[in-house]
Amino acid sequence: MISFLDLKAPYLELKQELDEAIARVVSSGWFIGGPEVDQFEAEYAAYCGAAHAVGVANGLDALHLALRAMDVGPGDEVIVPSNTYIATWLAVSQCGATLVPVEPDARTFNIDPALIEAAITPRTKVLLPVHLYGQPADMDPILAIARKHGLRVLEDGAQAHGARYKGQRVGAHGDAVAWSFYPGKNLGAMGDGGAVTTNDPQIADRMRVLRNYGSRVKYVNEVQGYNSRLDPLQAAILRVKLAKLDEWNARRRSISKRYQQRLANCGLTLPYVPDWAEPVWHLYVVQHPQRDALQQALTDAGVGSLIHYPIPPHLQQAYASFGCREGAFPLAERMADQVLSLPMGPAMGESELSGVVRIVQSAAKAICRP
Ligand SMILES: *Cc1c(COP(=O)(O)O)cnc(C)c1O
Repeated sequence: MISFLDLKAPYLELKQELDEAIARVVSSGWFIGGPEVDQFEAEYAAYCGAAHAVGVANGLDALHLALRAMDVGPGDEVIVPSNTYIATWLAVSQCGATLVPVEPDARTFNIDPALIEAAITPRTKVLLPVHLYGQPADMDPILAIARKHGLRVLEDGAQAHGARYKGQRVGAHGDAVAWSFYPGKNLGAMGDGGAVTTNDPQIADRMRVLRNYGSRVKYVNEVQGYNSRLDPLQAAILRVKLAKLDEWNARRRSISKRYQQRLANCGLTLPYVPDWAEPVWHLYVVQHPQRDALQQALTDAGVGSLIHYPIPPHLQQAYASFGCREGAFPLAERMADQVLSLPMGPAMGESELSGVVRIVQSAAKAICRP
């Protein structure tokens, strides 16, 4: 059996430091906010090269509250990728704003900057690119379009902790970046967690008020806020793991490199990396027209794999009111039919990698036989 991702491995690797961090919080009596959250925020902001980081309860809240901090509401339009995790869309809907999906570049899976301007209307307020699968979106043209039309840019960085675009870490290209620390992410907590990084002091200040019931001074409420706080226990855990993130990302890069070499020429479409991108390989996603047969062969051989994502947001029942039929966003739909994520994680060893490669190669060969 080769698992898709080993979630226990990071704990075993850092057991002593993590146990100490947890004991420190438990014995301190600080269970909401406090020094661990402050210090994690400072360390994560520094890591991202951003002036501010504001911890929140999860990645969806990070997106939602960042949009609120940008005053997004009913009547506003937000441009999102047609192919993303549903959270990107839900954050916009939660503000009462209107979703305007744009199709991806077929090679990078990220929003196609060449298609954005046609989707802009006088109501457009925010561009919301996603750094999908850990690969940075093409930020320069996106930022140029935003400047030209007076729009804000919020990035969904939930899959891209540590990724670099033209040498600069994701975290401060646009007006704000939303992060998730869901356990399976490259930087994952032992429960839920999220944050927003930004260089804009006003966005950071609004985030701090919004996450805390709309209050700056206890029992004085300026706005109708939310309860969305990063737990100090999770902050302490994240501080330990942040120190390991670059090493863990380097291991992912090394695995992806070997996949790229050994899976070439077996009929799969492998990930494409533009020369300006340094992805962190949150997922290693291949494409095959007979994806389901390929996945079944892997399952039969005891290799875990997942589909990110099997139903694009516009075809979800949750968005039935959006009124999209099949065919509305053909690239997103093709991806949903053809993508397959192979095992990937910092704990994956050479023997597991070789096992996956061997099984994928023989499965691909068997499928192609007429
Ligand atoms: C995981 C994820 C989110 C949501 O994060 P949660 O912490 O689970 O709320 C948002 N966007 C993308 C692209 C994600 O992968």
